[in-house]
Amino acid sequence: MYAEVIVDISHEAIDKSFSYRIPEDMVLHVGDPVLVPFGRGKKKAYVLSIHERVCFPEEKIKDIDSVLDKEFSVEEELLSLAVWMSREYGTGLNQCLKTVIPVKKKVKKRGKATKLLWKAEEAPLSLTKEQANVLEGIKLAFSKGEKAALLFGVTGSGKTEVYLKLMEEIIRKGKEVIFLIPEISLSFQTRSRIEKRFPGLVSVLHSKMSQGERAESMEKCRSGEVKILMGPRSALFAPFSNLGLIIMDEEQDRSYKSEQAPRYETRDVIRKRGELSSCPVLFGSATPSVQLFSEVEKGNLPCFCLHNRAVEGSTLPKMQVVDMRKELEEGNRSIFSRVLEGKIQERLDRGEQVMLFMNRRGYAPFVSCRKCGEALRCPHCDVSLNLHKNGILQCHYCGYQTNLPKICPNCKSKYLAAFGTGTEKLESICHSIFPKAGILRMDRDSTGKKGKYEEILQAFSEEKADILLGTQMIVKGHDFQKVTLVGIIAVDQILLDSDFQAGEWAYQLITQVSGRAGRGERAGEVLIQSYQPDHPLLELALKQDYLSFYKEEKNYRKRLSYPPFSVMLAMQCIYTEEAYLDYILGKLMPRVQERIRDGGGETYGPFPATVYKIKDKFRKIIYIKHSNHDIILQLRDYFIQELKQEDKRNLILLQFDLL
Ligand code: ADP
Ligand code: ZN
Ligand code: ZN
Repeated sequence: MYAEVIVDISHEAIDKSFSYRIPEDMVLHVGDPVLVPFGRGKKKAYVLSIHERVCFPEEKIKDIDSVLDKEFSVEEELLSLAVWMSREYGTGLNQCLKTVIPVKKKVKKRGKATKLLWKAEEAPLSLTKEQANVLEGIKLAFSKGEKAALLFGVTGSGKTEVYLKLMEEIIRKGKEVIFLIPEISLSFQTRSRIEKRFPGLVSVLHSKMSQGERAESMEKCRSGEVKILMGPRSALFAPFSNLGLIIMDEEQDRSYKSEQAPRYETRDVIRKRGELSSCPVLFGSATPSVQLFSEVEKGNLPCFCLHNRAVEGSTLPKMQVVDMRKELEEGNRSIFSRVLEGKIQERLDRGEQVMLFMNRRGYAPFVSCRKCGEALRCPHCDVSLNLHKNGILQCHYCGYQTNLPKICPNCKSKYLAAFGTGTEKLESICHSIFPKAGILRMDRDSTGKKGKYEEILQAFSEEKADILLGTQMIVKGHDFQKVTLVGIIAVDQILLDSDFQAGEWAYQLITQVSGRAGRGERAGEVLIQSYQPDHPLLELALKQDYLSFYKEEKNYRKRLSYPPFSVMLAMQCIYTEEAYLDYILGKLMPRVQERIRDGGGETYGPFPATVYKIKDKFRKIIYIKHSNHDIILQLRDYFIQELKQEDKRNLILLQFDLL
C-alpha cells in the first residue's frame, strides 16, 4: 500500500503531494501525521490518501518512517477540518485543503508591523441590565461545557457590545477569537469599533484583499501577533493555535454559504472547528435561521435573548404596508406611493435621514420591443438583459455587455422600451421629486472601486446626504442614528421567489431593512410598498415577532417535510450540451431513483434550474430527501459513482448543495 502525503502544509503550495510506501505492519489513516524521509533529512507530513498502486517505479519510492502521535497542532486541526469537509460536501480533498489552508504567498512589507499593545483606547459602554444578564448566562453556559449558544437580540439591542465583553475575557486568558460577520457589513463602523477596543490585536480579512494580503493576515494569526481575526466566512480558517471562541454574527446571512466548491455552510463548519479546537461557538442574530432555531426549540442549543434596544429611549420602528394597487386605481403611476413621498418630504424638512431599499440594480431590469413583444436576452444565459444608465445592456449572471440597439433585433422596429425599475432609475426619480435632497446610491455598480463602499457609508454617517438608497448592501449592520424612515420600494420582488426557503429569506430581509430605522432617540418608521398587501408573510413581518413567524414557517416545513424536518441535497448537473445531459440522466435516473426509494428516500427531478442556462452551460437539478444525514451522503456517493459510469469522459460538472 502507498500513501500520498503532504509535507509541511503551512509552507508549501498544497497542490504538491508525494508518494511513500506504507510498511507492512503500519496502520495508517487519512489525516495522520507521519515522519518521512525528505531531501537529506526527515520531515513531518500528513496523509492525504491511501492507494494500492502508484505509477512511479518501485525503486524510487521510499518508506514512511513512522506514525507520529496526534498532537493537535493547528495544521492538524485544519487538515482534519478539510478531511471532514471533503466528506460532508462531496468535494475533493485537494480543493478543500485549498479552501482551508491559504497558499502561502510573500507580500512586500509596507511599513512596520504593529506592536502588541494592550490599552483600551475606547472606554467600553456600561452594559444595560439585559446585556449584563445575557453575558453572564453565556459565560455560565460555556463554563458548564455547552459547545454552542445563540444570542438572539432584536436589531439595535447591542449584541456587539456583548461580543466585545466576551472577547475581552478570552484575550485576557491568553486565547484567541474568530469573529465572523457577513461580507458586506464589514464597514468602517464595525471595524473601527473593534480596532479601537483592541488596538493592535485585530487582523481583518475582506474580499477586496489580494491573495498575498490575505495570507499575511492569516500569518499574523499563526505567529500570535494578533488575537482576533475578523472577517467573512473564510476567517473561520484562521490558524490560531489556542482558539478560545468563535462568534458568528448575523448567523442567518446568506453570504455565509460558499458559492464555490466546497459549497459549505459556515454554521456547520464552525461547529466542527469548535469541536476540533475545543472552543465554544456563539451565534448571534435578530432573525435566526429556521435550521438553527429548531435546535433551540428542541432544547439542544441554549438561547439568550435581548428584547429591547440598547440606546435609551430607542424602540422598534412602527411598520406599515402600503397598498400599491390602490395607488394605481386612484391614478398614481409613480414608483412612490403618496404616503411614502409625503413622509420622505417630512423627514427632509426636519433634517432627518431616509433609507430606501430596492433589490434590483441597474436602470431597468428589461428592455423589450413594443411591436413584437420580444425582450432582449443574454446570448449566453437564460435571462433578460438589464439596462444601465450609460445605455449599456448588461447580463447580471455572466457580465456580458452590449450597447442598447437602435432597432429591435427581431422585427427591426424602433419601438424598444425599458420596463421596470432598478436602483439607478430610483435615484433619478428621487432627484426629480426631491431636487434639493442629497442622495447617495449604494449597489454593486457604485461600489466597484476599492474604498468606494466605505466612502458612501462615511458620507451618509456624516450627514452629507439625506437619502441613502440601494440594494442588500444598505441593509446589514449599519448604525445611523439619524435615520427615522425606511422605505421598501417593491417588496413583491422578494415575495415571489419560489424556493422553499423564500419565506424565511423575505422575513429576514424585511426585519433587517426595518432594523435600520429609529436606532437613535427619535422614533423610526417603516413603509413597505406592495401589490399584495395581504400576503401572510407581510402580516408576520409587521408583527415584529420572530416566534410567530417561526411557528408558521415550521408548520409549513413540517407539512411538506422540508429541512429541518428532513435532510435535502440539491445535485446540479452542468454541461454545455442539453441533449447530452438529458441522455446521460435519462440512462442513469431509473437506477438512482430505485436505489434512493429502497433506501427510504425520495427523489425529485431532474428539473431545469431556475435560471436554466448560465454562461452557455445548462443546469439540471435533482433533489434527494431523506431523514438521515449520513444516508444522504451515501446516496450522493452512489449517484457520483453511477454518473461516472455513464459519463465516462467526466464532462458533466456536478455541484452539491446540502440544504
Ligand atoms: P445590534 O448588533 O444588536 O444590532 P449594536 O451592537 O450595533 O446592536 O448596538 C446598537 C446601538 O446601541 C449602538 O449605537 C451602540 O453603540 C448602542 N449601545 C449598545 N450597548 C449600549 C449600552 N450598554 N449603552 C448605551 N448604548 C449602547
Ligand atoms: Zn420587435
Ligand atoms: Zn449572461
